[in-house]
Amino acid sequence: MAETQIDVLALRKKYQQERDKRIRSDGSEQYQFASGDWAGFSSDPFIDKPLQREPLNDFIEVAVIGGGLGGLLLGARLKEQGVDDIRVIDESGDFGGTWYWNRFPGAMCDIESYIYMPLLEEMGYMPSEKYASGDEILAYFQRIAKHYSLYNNACFQTSVTELTWSDADNYWLVKTNRGDCIRARYVCMSNGILNRAKLPSLPGLETFKGKMFHTSRWDYDYTGGSTKAPMTGLNNKRVAIIGTGATAIQCVPALAKDAEHLYVVQRTPSAVDVRDNGPTDPDWAKSLSSGWQQQRVFNFDAIVTMIENGTDMVADGWTEISRRALEIINAQGGIQNVPPEELAKLLEKIDMDVMEAVRSRVDDTVKDTETAAALKPWYRRNCKRPCFHDEYLPAFNRDNVTLVDTDGQGVERITETGLVVGGQEIEADCIILATGFDFIGDYPERAGYEIIGRQGKALGDKWSDGYRTLHGMQSNGFPNCFILANKQATFSYNYTYLAEQQATHIAHIIGETRRKGYSVVEVTPQAEQEWVDYVLALPDTSSDLIDQCTPGIYNMEGTSGDNRNAQDRPIPVAIQFFSILNEWRIKGDLQGLWLGK
Ligand code: NDP
Repeated sequence: MAETQIDVLALRKKYQQERDKRIRSDGSEQYQFASGDWAGFSSDPFIDKPLQREPLNDFIEVAVIGGGLGGLLLGARLKEQGVDDIRVIDESGDFGGTWYWNRFPGAMCDIESYIYMPLLEEMGYMPSEKYASGDEILAYFQRIAKHYSLYNNACFQTSVTELTWSDADNYWLVKTNRGDCIRARYVCMSNGILNRAKLPSLPGLETFKGKMFHTSRWDYDYTGGSTKAPMTGLNNKRVAIIGTGATAIQCVPALAKDAEHLYVVQRTPSAVDVRDNGPTDPDWAKSLSSGWQQQRVFNFDAIVTMIENGTDMVADGWTEISRRALEIINAQGGIQNVPPEELAKLLEKIDMDVMEAVRSRVDDTVKDTETAAALKPWYRRNCKRPCFHDEYLPAFNRDNVTLVDTDGQGVERITETGLVVGGQEIEADCIILATGFDFIGDYPERAGYEIIGRQGKALGDKWSDGYRTLHGMQSNGFPNCFILANKQATFSYNYTYLAEQQATHIAHIIGETRRKGYSVVEVTPQAEQEWVDYVLALPDTSSDLIDQCTPGIYNMEGTSGDNRNAQDRPIPVAIQFFSILNEWRIKGDLQGLWLGK
């Protein structure tokens, strides 16, 4: 890409103005969740037959809560450790997690399939495209469940309501909304990171007389069609979609084709870069040798975090900024020769170039200049999740599509017949909420149930003054209990990397405990304190995100409220975190864990 001449100071000022315009005093309080009066927004539209069954009252070895990517990986890795008595429990009707729920038209993965779809070598599977469709991923996840015999004992359409540890008998009592009382030796929780749909707390939301649903509960009975087939039910409907995040970017092109008229209601434009999807090259697939997937998964994170400066295997929009930075750094003899402030300047400059190209793409694609101006994102690339799509921007050239830009202020209110923006009502037959998911709320609030450990102590109470864990996965007072993708662990754009490494670690601990002849494993208070101290000593990288980025889920909506708790801090570099876990496992002594019978 050709370098553009950019006035860095002017652009910084523009970014700041756009950010400040969007800061709201209600921060994350502007949202509510699909429970209570709004419970209808969370009901499952994909179940053919509601399940009828008697309550369970039995004993199992491991309860895995959540049948998505993390639950599948836990199941697979536990089986490899010789643990067969596993029960996966999920409120949905099948395996699939996020891909079970998010079946909106056009759903697809924007992380490369070869690193996102797990266990490809174990399964002998090769994705059909560089970026797979949601349909393919869902079918593949269910194939994994079959392969590892996870269907045998699974409980779907079942929500856990409480977990209670029995000090007397050393098991977890798992209670569910179906009256089950399941005793489980171990519980592994993989509730997901984007599992709780957010609804905007807009005045009048309850008064709308048309159809309204959240993108994670797409109502094909109303819209007609499917993830791929045309939504003929919308042909005579005025549809308004609220939100322009990664989900909306993917479903707008299909809605544009099928709705009589589509209003895309925007508060902050996404950065929509080139997707450039294509079929998997069979010759490339044949050329791969054993271990290729782990190598590629590692390489992606290593390039993104600039830990490695070799070949960029994935080489897409996710790795672009660091790839370009690494080229320049290598020409200067390596990262050790670049002082931190120089590196920061270099990254900012590349970021500005990349975002300028994203903005030029809008001008090159969208014919109406006013619409094009409104679609341009003014913030640093990773302030919001980058998007990749080749049909989103062209959709705005259609006569039946109107961008309703709210100049950063959002929808004012909902009426019986539509929504109000800037004092003007837009009439709609159907309002689709593409307003995202809770990323901020505390665990176990996000899990949806309380976890009662030793001596009746609730995990929520224990963590009310800050998270206390070993490696983010275990907490003292909560034996035999493991949490995937929690705070005090790490973050990767490729969730598979995180889930895979943590599932491997958890399965190792359970496997070792059993092999050593014990049935209880618990973090010692000392090991937990050492991990908390380690996390607190890490540099705080969150303040730039909070102070400079446009508000969103990555920066707690730009607020510095209670959630800015140092103990929430994720360890910034996934590779560094996983190497700590790996070394811990290799040592082989389960350091910091107490074992009991
Ligand atoms: P997001 O949280 O990213 O987007 C929500 C959207 O709703 C934002 O545009 C937000 O505006 C807007 N919004 C919220 N309230 C209002 C309001 N009152 N008025 C107007 N607009 C409003 O949710 P998504 O579902 O799009 O994406 C969530 C996550 O799901 C992504 O971050 C990604 O991790 C994942 N995802 C992954 C995909 C993949 O391919 N792997 C595909 C799709 C999603 P504002 O930006 O101003 O807050």
